[in-house]
Amino acid sequence: MQQLTANVWAEHGFRGCNCGFLVTREGVVMIDCPQRPTDARQWRQIIFTHGQPRYLVNTEPHADHVMCDSLFPEAIVVAHQGTRQAMTNHTVEAFCKRISELDPEGMAMLDGYHVRLPSIVYESRLTLYLGEHTIELINLPGHTPWQTAIYLPQERVLFTNDNVFHRVHTFLHEAVPEQWLVSLEAMKRMEADWYVPGHGQPFSDRAYLDQQAQLVRQWIATIKESVARGWSRDETFERLPLLDPYSPESGGEDRAREIRRMSVNRLYSLYSGR
Ligand SMILES: [Zn+2]
Repeated sequence: MQQLTANVWAEHGFRGCNCGFLVTREGVVMIDCPQRPTDARQWRQIIFTHGQPRYLVNTEPHADHVMCDSLFPEAIVVAHQGTRQAMTNHTVEAFCKRISELDPEGMAMLDGYHVRLPSIVYESRLTLYLGEHTIELINLPGHTPWQTAIYLPQERVLFTNDNVFHRVHTFLHEAVPEQWLVSLEAMKRMEADWYVPGHGQPFSDRAYLDQQAQLVRQWIATIKESVARGWSRDETFERLPLLDPYSPESGGEDRAREIRRMSVNRLYSLYSGR
């Protein structure tokens, strides 16, 4: 775990998304939570040494960000309304299957476990005030249409969500690529000393936002070109140049291939209309 500022911590070591929190005089604001129940247990201990959990912001609906929401009943879950809607497709069965694969030991901790949906939703922006802190939730579409970025002006920290994969393989399987580019530009305009990406290490160099945009731009151009040439979905995938210079966090080349397949599927559908 890394302490980034006087009141902000981020953990990059859990399997799955990064998690973070802000400590205020009136309690703790959590940003996403670990997907493995054993990590969630450890995370609870850490959180409670800093205060009472008040809010848990889910930055997106993917399982690695939301699967253990129900293990933090003290916090009110907040998310974009599209994230909440997408989360209604999650089932306890699917989550338990994933937990049995990723965290067999965690299966013993699932007493009362359920799919928890956000209690507070918003559409474009939502500001929370807690203690002396301002917490700005902003819908910045990209990795999914419903991404929430969390900007903490007093701390000069931006939680970018999965719109930034810092030096790890980028997932585009539910992406809205053109809007993603607009969102990255919006992030560049926010004054921050620290960026906490959805995956990969927190960083300070704003130039990485341009690198992420460049990758998204290459994806757009590559798939549009394949469609223009009349290539099929499979042909597009097989001929795909290696766009992403980074490996997935886990799973090696097989996993990378699987992610590329999902990303091609998404963009091919968008640009071919099929
Ligand atoms: Zn995701």
